This record gives sequence, C-alpha cells and structure tokens, in this order.
Amino acid sequence: MSIEVRNITKHFGDFRALDDVNLSVPTGKLVALLGPSGSGKTTLLRIIAGLEQADSGSGSILFHEEDVANTHVRHRRVGFVFQHYALFRHMTVFENVAFGLRVRPRKSRPNRRDIADTVHELLRLVQLDMLAGRYPSQLSGGQRQRVALARALAVEPKMLLLDEPFGALDAKVRKELRSWLRRLHDELNVTSVFVTHDQDEALEVANQIVVMNRGRVEQIGTPDEVFHHPQTEFVMHFLGDVNAFHGRVIQGNVQFGSLKVPLLENRQQIVGDARVFIRPHDVTIDTKTNGLPAIEARVVRVHSAGPLVRVELLTSANQRLISEISQERFVTMNLQPDSKVYIRPRHIRVFADS
Ligand code: ADP
Ligand code: MG
Repeated sequence: MSIEVRNITKHFGDFRALDDVNLSVPTGKLVALLGPSGSGKTTLLRIIAGLEQADSGSGSILFHEEDVANTHVRHRRVGFVFQHYALFRHMTVFENVAFGLRVRPRKSRPNRRDIADTVHELLRLVQLDMLAGRYPSQLSGGQRQRVALARALAVEPKMLLLDEPFGALDAKVRKELRSWLRRLHDELNVTSVFVTHDQDEALEVANQIVVMNRGRVEQIGTPDEVFHHPQTEFVMHFLGDVNAFHGRVIQGNVQFGSLKVPLLENRQQIVGDARVFIRPHDVTIDTKTNGLPAIEARVVRVHSAGPLVRVELLTSANQRLISEISQERFVTMNLQPDSKVYIRPRHIRVFADS
C-alpha cells in the first residue's frame, strides 16, 4: 500500500510543527524521516497513523490513493514500533506477539492453532523462536525490540511505522538491528516509514530519505542523492562532517582561501558571496607542492585510531579544517604535528550566502 502526504500543516497553539509537508511512500518501500530532534518527525508519523490530526483544511493523507482522513486508526491496518518497547510485562514473548490476533473480533479471529503457527513463524523471522516462553524482563534491549517488531507484524499490517525503534539501544546493537531490519524488509516488503535522527541509520536502511528541518522537508532522495547531492546547506551539514569556508563567486569561479575553482553547471546562478563546503574525505594532503594551486596549512593534531586517519589542520589564513586520509597514505607522508602541508579539495559544494 502506498502512502501519500499532501500539503500537511500542523500547529500546536501558535507553534508550527509541520509546514506544508509533501511526500510519497511507494508500495513496499522503506522511507526514512531523518532530521534533528524537534524537526516534526514524530508529529508527521502520528498524523500518518491517524493518532494526530493535521490542521483542519490543511491537506490530506492518502493510502493507496484513497483519503483516509475519516478512517479510524483501528481500521488503517498500521503496525507501530516505538523507541520504548511497550511490551506487556506480565506476558511471555509468545503471548505478546499473539496479543493482536487474540483481541480480534470473533469472526475474524484465527483459531488457537493458527495463532500459534503465525506467532512461531514470526518469532523465527525475528530469530527469537527459542525464547518464546520468556518474559520481557528476561530479554536484552535488542531482543525486546525484535519482539515489538514481531508483535507489530502479527496483525499483517499494510504498513509499518517505526519511531526511532533503536533509539534507546547502544551503538553496537543499533548497528546490528539496522542491517537486520533491512534484510527483514527485503523479505516482507511491507510499506514502511522509519523515523530516525541518526544519518548513518537512515543511509543504511532506507530506499528513500526525507530530510526534515523545522517542520519542513529539506530534500527527498535516495541515500546516494542526499549524501552526494545535497540541495541545501542544512542537508550538507546534517549528513556528515563538513569544512565550511566563506567564498566569492566571480565569473563562474568560486574563490576561497588562495584557491579559485570553477563552479559546477548546476551552481551557475550563484553570484557574489557564497559558502563553500568540503567533506573531510575530499580534502587531499600533500607534503610537497606539485605546482597545482593549493592552500598551505599546518598539521595541528592527528587521530589515527580508526579506519581512516583524521588530520586537523590550520591554514595560513587561520582557518581550521579536517582531512580524512587512508592509513597507508598517512604512513607514506609521515605527518607530525606542525608538519607543513598543501591541501586541495577533490570536490566542493557551493551555496549562495544566505
Ligand atoms: P521530532 O520527532 O522530530 O523530534 P516532534 O514531532 O516530536 O519532533 O516535535 C516537533 C515540535 O512540535 C517540537 O518542537 C515539539 O516540542 C512540538 N510538539 C510536539 N508535540 C506537541 C504537543 N502535543 N504539544 C505542543 N507541542 C508539541
Ligand atoms: Mg520524535
């Protein structure tokens, strides 16, 4: 089932939590709502679910091209998973997952045997079949969240809404669960909306990312599109570390530091003051000048305990910046604090100064 959000605005008193939001979730896809805390992600998810109303007359939510404004939450066939696993503490894992089926009206309720089959199948899917008889207090956080997911799936939802489902877990478990969720989604293809403030999570899990900021959609695109082709400064900043420079655009070239770089075709409308961004992995370092224009800098600090080496630099114009280089390159160059280097951007992004 596809989901269409059209021109949704939502106020809480005078505060505008959502401002004319539009997006669509194609059938079977997993879309991430990504943005900082307070950007309106949960509010949007609750409106999609029918737990919250948009401003009256502000737009519509369509499920499979049908307006659902007047469809009650119970009939929307939505599965939820929230940050704080709301499992029933006095019920076993099995009973928790069976719950949604057991409370169905008699005529649509499966018999005991079918319920048991469904529950065991779901527990196998989330790899918890061995723990069916345990109580939530006897599970780890990651296991509880998997039970919550199995419980949401038990009622065969037409869509799955997940609000920071791994937010309360520690980093390593979060990472495991997100690749596991990705595989589960590939298997089931339930139309899903996944809320997160963690860009790595969104980039890894989602088919499409909706980047939100202050109640507005900044950009919608595939993980590759939003990461490699950010359309706004906000998206550039939010999806990874950046080095920022002030620059000036003159006759199709942007000047910053001691460099002059031609603007890309899609940036040619920019004139005058501009902001120049370079991701750390796009800053190359050389210990010798090779004749090409470069910015002179000194090494301030080196962090080499990681897959890449992070080098903190200070340019001759007192601008700080970060470069990320491979371990091999780092060893070859023998960089030390105070080493003099020449840096060049491999790739820059330019936005008009606002
Ligand atoms: P997110 O999930 O992205 O962190 P929310 O959707 O929870 O953001 O909140 C967006 C903004 O709306 C926040 O500033 C929040 O304080 C405000 N807000 C959310 N729910 C309510 C509410 N019931 N009453 C008043 N303000 C609210
Ligand atoms: Mg939230």
